[in-house]
Parts: sequence; C-alpha cells; structure tokens
Amino acid sequence: MDNSRYVLEGIIGKNGDESCLIGGRCKKCGVYSFPATEFCLECLSDEIEAVPLSSTGTLYSYTITRMNVGHFKAPHLLGMIDLPEGVRVVAPLKDDEEYQVGDEVKLIVTALWTEDDGTEVIGYRFGHS
Ligand SMILES: [Zn+2]
Repeated sequence: MDNSRYVLEGIIGKNGDESCLIGGRCKKCGVYSFPATEFCLECLSDEIEAVPLSSTGTLYSYTITRMNVGHFKAPHLLGMIDLPEGVRVVAPLKDDEEYQVGDEVKLIVTALWTEDDGTEVIGYRFGHS
C-alpha cells in the first residue's frame, strides 16, 4: 500500500531521471505558468500544455516566517525562485542552509509533513543541495 500522496496532484513529475515541477506553457504565445493556469494570462488562449520546468533557479527573495503556517512550524524559510522559463515559484527553502538573494537553488522533492494516519505528503522545497 502506498503510504504517500502529493501535496497537489499534477505539479510534480520527472524530466528524464530528475524530479521537476510541471508547469503550463501556452501553445499560442509560449508563456509559462506554475501551477499551470487554465488559460494564458498573457494572451487568454486556453491551449495550455503541461511541460516540465527547470529544476534549478535563482533566489529572487526570501523571508523567515516566525509563526506557524499550516504544517510548517516557525521559524521556517519561504523563498521566491525565478526559473529560466520566466516563472516565479513560491516555495519553502531548506531550513538548515543560509541564503542570499541571487543564489542558485535547486528543486528538492521531499516529504513535507506526515498526516495523523501516517501518510507522507510529498511536496517540494528549494535549497543549495
Ligand atoms: Zn498565451
């Protein structure tokens, strides 16, 4: 029995052997989105295809959150990561590393928390390693 689930279905996948986020790409104008939108926020086309996104990005900004938010216990780090596709992803950062704006950070697919029934909830963070 599989004792895990994704935090949200359809947003995490594989690009070859590497885990990646799955975004949307407008077939008409090429603009990317994450999570994938139902229609393009640039040209309003509804022709959106699911595509793997780069798993390395640049830390645009981050903050230390000093209150519990859902399953995330304070203090925890929350970052905004710019991917080469032009998508800015909001994601938790690995808590045991130090960051500076502009750092290169990499996607880490990992269990974020465990439910009361033992189910691991798989999501993503970014970090240096
Ligand atoms: Zn478009």
